[in-house]
Amino acid sequence: MAVLEQLTSQKAIELENKYGAHNYHPLPVVLSKGQGVYVWDVEGKKYYDFLSAYSAVNQGHCHPKIVGAMVQQAQTLSLTSRAFYNDMLGKYEKFATELFGFDKLLPMNTGAEAVETALKICRKWAYEVKGIAENEAQIIVCENNFHGRTTTIISFSNDPVARKNFGPYTNGFLKIEYDNLNALEAALNANSNIAGFLVEPIQGEAGVYVPSEGYLAAAKALCVQHNVLFIADEVQTGIARTGRLLATCGNCSCENKNCEGTPEVKPDILILGKALSGGAYPVSAVLANDAVMNVIQPVNHGSTFGGNPIASAVAIAALEVVQEESLAENAFQLGEIFRAELSSFAAESDLVKSVRGKGLLNAVLINDTEDSSTAWDICIKLRDNGLLAKPTHGNIIRFAPPLVMTEAELRDCIAIIKNTIRDFKK
Ligand SMILES: *Cc1c(COP(=O)(O)O)cnc(C)c1O
Repeated sequence: MAVLEQLTSQKAIELENKYGAHNYHPLPVVLSKGQGVYVWDVEGKKYYDFLSAYSAVNQGHCHPKIVGAMVQQAQTLSLTSRAFYNDMLGKYEKFATELFGFDKLLPMNTGAEAVETALKICRKWAYEVKGIAENEAQIIVCENNFHGRTTTIISFSNDPVARKNFGPYTNGFLKIEYDNLNALEAALNANSNIAGFLVEPIQGEAGVYVPSEGYLAAAKALCVQHNVLFIADEVQTGIARTGRLLATCGNCSCENKNCEGTPEVKPDILILGKALSGGAYPVSAVLANDAVMNVIQPVNHGSTFGGNPIASAVAIAALEVVQEESLAENAFQLGEIFRAELSSFAAESDLVKSVRGKGLLNAVLINDTEDSSTAWDICIKLRDNGLLAKPTHGNIIRFAPPLVMTEAELRDCIAIIKNTIRDFKK
């Protein structure tokens, strides 16, 4: 079969089913092109993308500036490994640390790797700085978390589908309820070997759970009080998705007026991925100040591809696009419109219970039992009507378009969503 032969959707699906491991259950649509907020299937049908590759494509598909940086760097120097210096990594590290306000950055490739890196840094800090006895450190995590798919990360998941038959599991994690300060305080008081608290500012995969106002700031204060590192996993919430550069941003330096009056919750360790590259390339990072990051010394940790010249050039371009196109502001404003429209629709629709989220990370709760296929079936109809979204856990549909969307496009999408649900028959 010629690589350049154009497949039909049916043929492409057959190939994946026959030759690929069945580790996903994709919506039946085969995409072959993307631009901005749109994707096209192999038959040429055009769709609005309302998943954005799980918030990796915040800057829109195939952003010319990001693609340009990638192509240029790919033709110049792609990979040296960290056995040698390269002329792009330092530039990127300076740019990103200044933008996010940390002393140092450690570059990795995927989100899960960055989470693993943060856990390793936290443990090493616990032994070498905090003074916890070796192998005794514990890290607090939240129920219904999603931090990736490695053996250690699924060890502290409570999703049976992600965990079952992958044991034995990694020790050293305590699980508490999300958005529950009493549980955090009790866990901190009960154990003097706590090294860190790993938390998603909004639980995306769990179904876009937004914690109570003030939860993150109060949790951070408790961590400070107990000399415990506050580790924010902003792989999905970061890079303007929630209407701010970071979901933990307050009065920071990005000059987004929507942050005014909100206290900044500065993590001790910040984890980024996904949109750090605008979806062009796997780029993730861990940021921290020297007092924490300096526990990492040569040969302690690394990655062949982490911090390569293409990744560095792409990440600089991707972050510049966020600033130049005011994507945080846009996500904030469009998010307000989306939730206002969908919550008034919920009042008239039997099928929609409510809408929740921040910025352009939103979820619509479908009024049916957890195990029914209603959310999936609605997503199929949305597909037929030219809009791609995917259910998360239970009967919840996540709506997270690229942040480069215009208000007119968003209103068009809101009409598609309302009409599809109005016409939906079980
Ligand atoms: C997607 C995600 C990850 C894992 O990122 P991968 O690149 O898929 O390994 C980790 N944390 C959160 C919050 C995520 O949404």
